[in-house]
Amino acid sequence: MTEPLRNLDIEELVRLDTAHHLHPFTDYKALAAEGGSRIITRAEGVYLYDGHNNKIIDGMAGLWCVNVGYGRDDLAELAMQQMKVLPYYNTFFKTATAPSIELAAKVASKLPANFNHVFFANSGSEANDTQLRMVHHYWQCAGQPEKRFVISRENAYHGSTVAGASLGGMGPMHKQGGKLIPTIHHVMQPYWYKLGGDMTPEEFGLAAAKSLEDKILELGPENVGAFIGEPIQGAGGVIIPPSTYWPEINRICKKYDILLICDEVICGFGRTGNWFGLETFGIEPDLITMAKGLSSGYLPIAATGVSDRVANTIIENGGEFYHGYTYSGHPVACAVALRNIEIMEEEKLVENTRDVAGPHLAKRLAELADHPLVGEVRSVGLIGAIELVKDKKTRERFDPLGKVGTMCRDHFFKRNAIMRACGDTMVLSPPLVITPAEIDALIDVAKECIDATA
Ligand code: PLP
Repeated sequence: MTEPLRNLDIEELVRLDTAHHLHPFTDYKALAAEGGSRIITRAEGVYLYDGHNNKIIDGMAGLWCVNVGYGRDDLAELAMQQMKVLPYYNTFFKTATAPSIELAAKVASKLPANFNHVFFANSGSEANDTQLRMVHHYWQCAGQPEKRFVISRENAYHGSTVAGASLGGMGPMHKQGGKLIPTIHHVMQPYWYKLGGDMTPEEFGLAAAKSLEDKILELGPENVGAFIGEPIQGAGGVIIPPSTYWPEINRICKKYDILLICDEVICGFGRTGNWFGLETFGIEPDLITMAKGLSSGYLPIAATGVSDRVANTIIENGGEFYHGYTYSGHPVACAVALRNIEIMEEEKLVENTRDVAGPHLAKRLAELADHPLVGEVRSVGLIGAIELVKDKKTRERFDPLGKVGTMCRDHFFKRNAIMRACGDTMVLSPPLVITPAEIDALIDVAKECIDATA
């Protein structure tokens, strides 16, 4: 068999990387000044290994995605078998493949009862592009084409394509020309710790939801087609909404007849201790975005879940939907995603997240709450955050660019552990197979790193 790694030595790889490879979300000059990338060569369970054979505990499951952990031979073997049988065929123009059909049915079986259809894409960003196309197509089919505005939230992350970056509420991305779609508007995020002032979390949840209602009334309900939100804002710093927030959003969307899009790219497939974040927060969407945990990152695949309301309207009245990707429903990615979901079922990874690993993470995070640099710790299931502040009492931040968070993250990196900095908030999202002992190891490193940063 061909070796997956050619015999380039690590120093040569680092040199070639700096010379030729532009990475996503990277300051190229700074990376080169620091001596270039750390090359990850292999992985097993919750551990990565770098080119110098350092064993690194991955507290982020890659990019919040490797839910079943690394080193699953059966996924690799299945991919090989599927490649031999049928490496590619498309799902355009009245053809389909068995893996794409089986996966569509399997995903539909996991979604709420009023969801029976899915549309495949390759990434969360693409699936959110599909959401925009779907929203406009739906309202045209429903005879209300003027419902073209889509409302999102500040500090949201919905991807990096033109639609994803425009839907997202990330200031630095917008500054680089990322908000190119003028029909997208943003409202307040439900970030109680930062924005709640004197309000209780419950009061603040209602106030944050009211900002949606105010925006709908400003734009005119007859012009607003959809609202999009992540159950928990992930890349925005693991912003867990107060319990009052999502029920009020449901009510507002229903009142003004606005489609509710739930972006489950991070929360979906077990992360919050349920199959989907919508179950954890009581969200009642019309459209659902899925990616990451759908295949645990073993191959790129994403999906848009479409409720009966939307699906029946576009099926009945839409004619041809002029939208899709060459690799929509790619047979190898679908076969791997299907098996990935079966592994999650067989090993009860969702239940383990809810009943064992999630509560253990919450308990260990709580031990950090008294640290002078820690403003708040928060978690749901296996997604959590440690928010670093200059002053615990006043909640004063360090600086908006998150230099302190970056310092803390670098301390992690040096100690062979991976945690991410979203501004000055340290976030955690480990593989769902993580054991309590491995969580202990991560939190012990977190303590050391916060001490070293202080
Ligand atoms: N939506 C959410 C909530 C995400 O967190 C992400 C990625 O982190 C995306 C969409 C975009 O997914 P992708 O990077 O696969 O395009």
